[in-house]
Formats: sequence, structure tokens, C-alpha cells
Amino acid sequence: MKTTGDQFLVKKINKSIVLDTIRDQSPISRAAVSKMTGLNKGTVSSLVAELINNEFVLEIGTGKSSGGRKPVMLLFHETAGYAIGVELGVAKIRTILTNLNGEMVEEASRKLARTEIEYVTQELFAAIQSMIDLTPPSRYGIVGIGIGVPGIVDETGRILFAPNLQWENMDLNALISEHFQLPVTIDNEANAGAVGEQQYGAGRDAANIVYISVSEGIGTGIIFGRELFRGAAGLSGEMGHMTIEANGRKCRCGNKGCWELYASTSSHPQYDFDTLVQMSASGEADGIRGFYEMGEYLGIGISTIINTFNPELIIIGNQMMRAERWITSAIQQTVATRSLSYHRKHSSIRFAQLETRSTLLGAAYYAISGFFSKDRASLAETM
Ligand SMILES: [Zn+2]
Repeated sequence: MKTTGDQFLVKKINKSIVLDTIRDQSPISRAAVSKMTGLNKGTVSSLVAELINNEFVLEIGTGKSSGGRKPVMLLFHETAGYAIGVELGVAKIRTILTNLNGEMVEEASRKLARTEIEYVTQELFAAIQSMIDLTPPSRYGIVGIGIGVPGIVDETGRILFAPNLQWENMDLNALISEHFQLPVTIDNEANAGAVGEQQYGAGRDAANIVYISVSEGIGTGIIFGRELFRGAAGLSGEMGHMTIEANGRKCRCGNKGCWELYASTSSHPQYDFDTLVQMSASGEADGIRGFYEMGEYLGIGISTIINTFNPELIIIGNQMMRAERWITSAIQQTVATRSLSYHRKHSSIRFAQLETRSTLLGAAYYAISGFFSKDRASLAETM
């Protein structure tokens, strides 16, 4: 019996290796898959036959050949299913529909008038349903829903605390998954944003990334060795609450002088963010000075991140993207004077490549990777 189980497991693992290879390299021939994976041609052929049968892989045309018969090419079938990515904000819910390659096919946004749980839940149901209604027919339909939220989320997807929504201890995962009968992944929006940039954006070639989500607050998603660093209970990354002014303003977290009070989009003592953007765009000195100061404070926190984590890449994302041209030089100058030169040499600072969709695409990726790892996870449990 044991032998049968092991053979079954080996086959499953090989099948996912073959699928991953086709997904990353497609279009690719069976021979090339065999060469890249080290699996023999017969094994690859039978696994590919199953993947074609499951509609995860398609055969197309012919590829280059070094003489002789031209090989049939294999393609990852990106529209065999779809994923929904959701970003729950304080004032709006944004949703996207992607194919299994994380390519966006639909996008919507709906305003939130209030923040109480019952109302927001109903709006979330409606927002997700509207994406489901727009989903093209496919073999697997919606494979899952990923949701990025502005709060502290534990490893089970329970929202422990979302200060801007004034939510505490809320099992959003159970509500959504029961309503739609679909797998749901909920994570902090900065973690989802980090994953989005890593999979589809500025972080694709980097192994060690700190993604800084700057909007009304500041959150960070930390990726070490290509894996999201979650900490002991899944709560890491609240760098917006590191103290940068010892006797600074009071923060709602209980501390004083937190980074996000000085460097977020809501940090200006006089003007809101939209006003500052308008002022700066029309060349008003007060607006430009406001952003310069925010850039300096961002640079102070970034210097600490560079000295602490030695990341190769720091990505600034979310709403602060809109002020890129007014904060960049202040950030660069501050980091140049405040971080350790050895560390700085190995770190670069970039803005999110997915613009303001890092969290949405990261959330969709959670759904996609959950779908493809289902076999692997259930097998790991039986071992
Ligand atoms: Zn704080």
C-alpha cells in the first residue's frame, strides 16, 4: 500500500513541476520540458496528456526545430479559470477579475458611504458578485477570491484590528467563503501588495524586497528569499508605527511619533492629499514643500529599513505613487545622508510598477496559487 501512495505522490509532484515549467516557459515543446525538468520524455508525455485533458495546457502550432519534424508547442491555458482580487479600502471597494496568469480582464470600484460591518459586508458581496457575473465561461470558473484589507490579519484570515474601519476581531474569511462557497484568502493590503509586485511587477527579479504601502497609513510587506515574511502570528510589517519622533504627535495605536503620522498621505497638518497634488501640479510652493517634507520623512524610515533588512529592492506603492515626481528627490537625498553606505550600495528604491493595483493583483495571485497548490497541500497532509 505504501508503495502505491508514494508513487501517487511522486506523480502529483512531477505533474505540478511540469505544469509550473509550461506556465513559466510557454510556448514550450515536450522535449524542452523534459530537458528542463530532468524527467524522461515518456513521463513528460503522459503527464502532459493529463494536463491537456484537465484543460490546463493547450497544444498549438509548431515551434523551431533544428531539422526534422517540427515539435508541437505547449501553452499554459490561462483562461481555464479566473480569479477575483479585492482591495477593501476605507472609502471604497476595488475589484478585479484576472485569468490564471494574473492578467486583468475586468475592473470595478464602488464607493463606501460608511464603515460599519453589516453595510460593508453587503457591499463586498455585491462587488464580488458583479465580477462573478462578468466572468467568461471556462472549465474551472472562479478558482478563488483574494482580499487585501487595511488592517492586522492573522494567519487564518481573521481581521484582528482595522483601525481606519474601526473593526476588531472580525472573521471576514468565513463570511465571504460561506456566501460564495469559494476558497477565500484574506491578508493585509501591504502583504498582498508586496506579493503583487513580486509576481507581476517591479519585484520579479528580486529575492529580498520591502514593499511600502503609503496611503492614509503606512504598511510594509517584507519578502525574504522570495517568501513573504509573516512573523510568529502572521502580524509582521507594521513599520508605519515605528517611532521616528521621540516626543511626536499621538498616534491612534497608543504610541507617539509614529512614521505614518509624518510620511503618509494624511500627514500634512493643513492640506489633504488631493489638495496637495493639485497645488503641486499647478506649481504652488506650499504644495511642493509639503511633498518635499513628506519625502524627507519617508526617506528617514526607508533608511532604517535599508540598514535593518539590507533588501535589494524597496518598492513604494499605493496612493503616494501619485506624488512620485515631488517626493523622489527628497527620498533619495535623505537616504543618501542617513543610511549606511555599505547597505545603500546594494539597495535600490523604486515605485510600484503595477501603479495602484499592487494589492489587487497580489490578492488575485493568492487565489490562483491556492488553486494550483491544492493538490500539493492535501498530499502534504497525508504524508
Ligand atoms: Zn502608531
